Amino acid sequence: MSIKYAHKIRHILSPKGHEIAFYEYLIDKSYPNIFILGGFHGDEIEGEYAVLQFMKELETKENIQSLYNIYFLPCLNPDGKENCSRFNINKVDLNRNYPTQNFKNKTQTLGYESVTCEAPASEKETRFMISLVEEYHPQAIVSIHSDLHLIDYDGPAQKLAQLFADKTGYRIVESVGYETPGSFGTWAGIERKIPVITLETWRGKTDEDLEKIWQEIRPAFYAMLSFQL
Ligand SMILES: [Zn+2]
Repeated sequence: MSIKYAHKIRHILSPKGHEIAFYEYLIDKSYPNIFILGGFHGDEIEGEYAVLQFMKELETKENIQSLYNIYFLPCLNPDGKENCSRFNINKVDLNRNYPTQNFKNKTQTLGYESVTCEAPASEKETRFMISLVEEYHPQAIVSIHSDLHLIDYDGPAQKLAQLFADKTGYRIVESVGYETPGSFGTWAGIERKIPVITLETWRGKTDEDLEKIWQEIRPAFYAMLSFQL
């Protein structure tokens, strides 16, 4: 019997002092790594729930078959979550703060106020994420958001996006339909050629919703573990 646990291997404190933790579920040091991320936007709590459930499930299973070491970051924006806000405490959109060629100081997302940030990677949370990608070289990244109920992807992620679509029933789009300058997908996917899936769930309002969403997307995560990238 061999049951493994996801260990916290890195963490920082958010600007308001909440922990932002990064966990490793190591299968074999020689295997490639994948990242599963939740909570870029504080008003989207579905991703954190899903990541934590996935971590919990892996701890109760013996002999997980996986081609990858799995790295988890449940919540990148605990300050935003505390305020039920999309943005971090400095009113920056953490999915528009990456040093990409299309970076803009001022961004506007449908349904939200327009926000500004001084410079690319101005935020501590962004710099933490960049350092993790640079240190662990993920071969694929899944970032969970809401509430568009679709799959968007960046970089060479078409086949992986199709797997997620087949397993969840969510539709794939090549663009969410509005500009996303400085996004994590552009930085990691388009500019660094790491396959990035942005999995947009529907908006979960109750605990039952969050569990229902996790059950919907769960098969895709297990399928990914044996999917040859
Ligand atoms: Zn989001």
